[in-house]
Amino acid sequence: MRVAVIGAGAAGCFCAIELRRRLRDAEVTVFEAAGRPLAKVAVTGGGRCNLTNSFAEVRSLASVYPRGESVMKRGFRRFGNRDVCSWFEREGVRLVTQDDQCIFPQSQDAMQIVRTLLRLMDRYGVILRTSSRVTSIRHDGSIFEVCTGGTSERFDRVVVTTGGSPKLSGISFLDPLELEIEQPVPSLFTFKIKDKSLTSMMGAVVEDAAVAFCGTKFKAEGPLLVTDWGVSGPAVLKLSSHAARWLAGCGYRAPLSVNWMGTIGEQEVRDLLQGYMDANPQKQVCSIYPRVLTSRLWSHLLMRAQLRDGIRWAELGKKGFNRLVNVMINDVYDIDGKGQFKDEFVTCGGVSLSNIDLNTLESKKYPGLYFAGEVLDIDAVTGGFNLQAAWTTGYIVACSISQLS
Ligand SMILES: Cc1cc2nc3c(=O)[nH]c(=O)nc-3n(C[C@H](O)[C@H](O)[C@H](O)COP(=O)(O)OP(=O)(O)OC[C@H]3O[C@@H](n4cnc5c(N)ncnc54)[C@H](O)[C@@H]3O)c2cc1C
Repeated sequence: MRVAVIGAGAAGCFCAIELRRRLRDAEVTVFEAAGRPLAKVAVTGGGRCNLTNSFAEVRSLASVYPRGESVMKRGFRRFGNRDVCSWFEREGVRLVTQDDQCIFPQSQDAMQIVRTLLRLMDRYGVILRTSSRVTSIRHDGSIFEVCTGGTSERFDRVVVTTGGSPKLSGISFLDPLELEIEQPVPSLFTFKIKDKSLTSMMGAVVEDAAVAFCGTKFKAEGPLLVTDWGVSGPAVLKLSSHAARWLAGCGYRAPLSVNWMGTIGEQEVRDLLQGYMDANPQKQVCSIYPRVLTSRLWSHLLMRAQLRDGIRWAELGKKGFNRLVNVMINDVYDIDGKGQFKDEFVTCGGVSLSNIDLNTLESKKYPGLYFAGEVLDIDAVTGGFNLQAAWTTGYIVACSISQLS
């Protein structure tokens, strides 16, 4: 049997290794458009490769996989995060779990993951063709014709693992197959906010904030960082992921509500402020503030609540008190575009899951054609979940092809 894997990224290389492990008689060829394989893996996690997560703090798969939860749920039973860890550890890669539950190689070197995959591809006789961009795939009876530039080759099975592409042109080689495609849009980005009073606080961090888009169900919690262009940090990235498609529809302009007190609710904030007021009526409001906020941020919030400089707790009055509570838990800023997040970005959208059998990842329309990795409409928040999806889906496809052979 001849199998073509298109794209030598995380999913493609992993799938090719697992295929050859299972099907010693099959010829597995990986086509890679770039001059070298696994280029993205080499830069993941800031060059350290956050290859998976312990999932200890994950409440539900939907909370980390805004798209593709259904595939990941099935896939996890067969090849979950523990399997990924055992797989790499068996190959001599020692792993460490950080306090935030992200898992990295102990060497802190993504190249160790790249070298491990390349060594295994070599050991199992996977054929790797770099600088070979696939320009189209055609279906001819039970055979697939894979075209690279001027030449074409015939294969019995094809696995598409070309990764995410925020532009439709990145998957135009699939056009002849007329598959359902979910319009690709970027995910994992920061928010631009023009308000100078906010951006002048560049560098301010709130460890436990909550952010949400007014009038929607999109919300996220976690550390928030004020930058010179707006806001960033885990809470913002998570929100950008969950709301990726909605934000694209709004042209990245939307009202963002910040709860600077995180998960603390309105009544608790009221009680906290009342306590300050009762204990320190003659002290200036600017001098007594919640421990989770900095003095700079507190001054900013007093300004947002239109409280005059030097006002004392006893002088706040009911209206001032209410304005302050409101600004602490529902401080609204207009987002004016998306910023970058250089450390990780992924694509929301791609080959629609409606095209494929969720258990085998095989095309419903073209038996023998499979998909794995980010080319599918599967993507996650940061934390090692995107690479986990690549390993899991690559593994499922290898099992599916070998079981059906
Ligand atoms: C800077 C950065 C850091 C990241 N860090 C992390 C992290 O630490 N943890 C994590 O979980 N996720 C991380 N991610 C996301 C993660 O890297 C991806 O989700 C993952 O690599 C997807 O794997 P894939 O195999 O589907 O695609 P890719 O790894 O993108 O591989 C696809 C391959 O296909 C090739 N290709 C594309 N089109 C063609 C074609 N027509 N013909 C032939 N070849 C083609 C591409 O050149 C590429 O090599 C990061 C992403 C970025 C951009």
